[in-house]
Amino acid sequence: MTKAPEPRRAWVYPLEVKGKFQRIHRATGLVLQLILVGLPWLVVKGYPAVQFDLASRRAYLFGAIFTPQDTVFLVLMGLLAAFSLFLFTALFGRLWCGFACPQTVYLEEWVRPIETFIEGKRGARIARDKGPWTAEKAARKAAKWTAFAALAGFVAMSFMSWFSGARPLWTGTASVGSYAVTAFLAGVMFADFAWFREQFCNYLCPYARFQGALTDPQSLVVSYQVELGEPRRGEGACIDCKKCVTVCPQGIDIREGFQLECITCGRCIDACDDVLGKKGQEGLIRYTPLVPGPRVRPRTVAYAAILLALLTAFTAMMANRHDLVADISRAPGTLFNIDADGWTRNTYLMRVTNNSHEETSFEVSIEGLPSDAKVDVSPIKLGPSATATVPVIVRLSPGEAAARTLPFAVRVASDHDHVLLTATFKTSEG
Ligand code: SF4
Ligand code: SF4
Repeated sequence: MTKAPEPRRAWVYPLEVKGKFQRIHRATGLVLQLILVGLPWLVVKGYPAVQFDLASRRAYLFGAIFTPQDTVFLVLMGLLAAFSLFLFTALFGRLWCGFACPQTVYLEEWVRPIETFIEGKRGARIARDKGPWTAEKAARKAAKWTAFAALAGFVAMSFMSWFSGARPLWTGTASVGSYAVTAFLAGVMFADFAWFREQFCNYLCPYARFQGALTDPQSLVVSYQVELGEPRRGEGACIDCKKCVTVCPQGIDIREGFQLECITCGRCIDACDDVLGKKGQEGLIRYTPLVPGPRVRPRTVAYAAILLALLTAFTAMMANRHDLVADISRAPGTLFNIDADGWTRNTYLMRVTNNSHEETSFEVSIEGLPSDAKVDVSPIKLGPSATATVPVIVRLSPGEAAARTLPFAVRVASDHDHVLLTATFKTSEG
């Protein structure tokens, strides 16, 4: 039995289109690119406005410094982002894909315009690609790929600025690892810009794969109005101009019904509005629910309620967040020691983090033990966002060690903040 030939990829040459959705795309794309490129350059209270410094396990967000002790905040931020996406998808379908995904933004705002500028409009590109290799064709391809390589390098550097810091990265002072990751990302982006393109959405993107679980028939999708458009070429129906197909960057015909490949970019809507608008008719492709129904559904209410709860928890925790974070635990080993002078000694390990923007000294004292109890701890002075672990030794005279376990508190204080840590003092008495 002969094996069927593998289907070859049909290269997509989307026709340029103008219209309402393209104007929205351009505006949101501009804002998002400014955020991607600009935010890591902004400085708030002496630190990057946004940086996820994985190497030193610090995150800087608009003046707040998050350390590994703040993992709960980062988890909450991740959950907030996830549930925002769930709610957004349930309400608006794949609007993210068509308008906010970096893949779409860079393809539509840079890659295709560069391609058109260097290789000409759709018809010229199709004809040249079908023809033999000539010096002119090679020169145009080389120029295009060079421009794509430069664009990929710029986008990779901008993306990595969120992790390695814009200033170190762009001034050549970041780590070798940062540049290695940047080079890898630039290579992947170049392959995407030059060749992979819509296949990323169709085969690789995880969001595209699980969107089916996040939407329902009342979620907004781009859909062809069959009852208005069919039968084709009838009075007021689809004139079968195929413009909605030729503008589609995913290479699909939306008239065949809802398809997973559709990224909700709205180009086919603009195309049909343009074609039929000239005949005084309304377009046949709309951004509308597949099945009419209420916008507020149990699913959207549940997502909104969870989002509100997460937001409330995050805001409350941020409002009560201390510049000083500390915890204490008993040092590994014996519970207590009896010193030569008869005093009972307990040893603890205390971890202190300075979340403020200044170098800060911390005083340590104890509360709740008999008055002759002594605490011995080295002076603690920490730079901004620094953490130190210090031994804390607490001693109690023989006459005062009246019970096996004495609860007490360790007070750690700076000039403007303090925390109370609970601990227990162990003795042989009782
Ligand atoms: S079908 Fe329309 S909305 Fe969907 S990807 Fe194609 S052009 Fe964009
Ligand atoms: S653009 Fe509109 S009229 Fe033209 S083929 Fe598509 S649906 Fe039909």
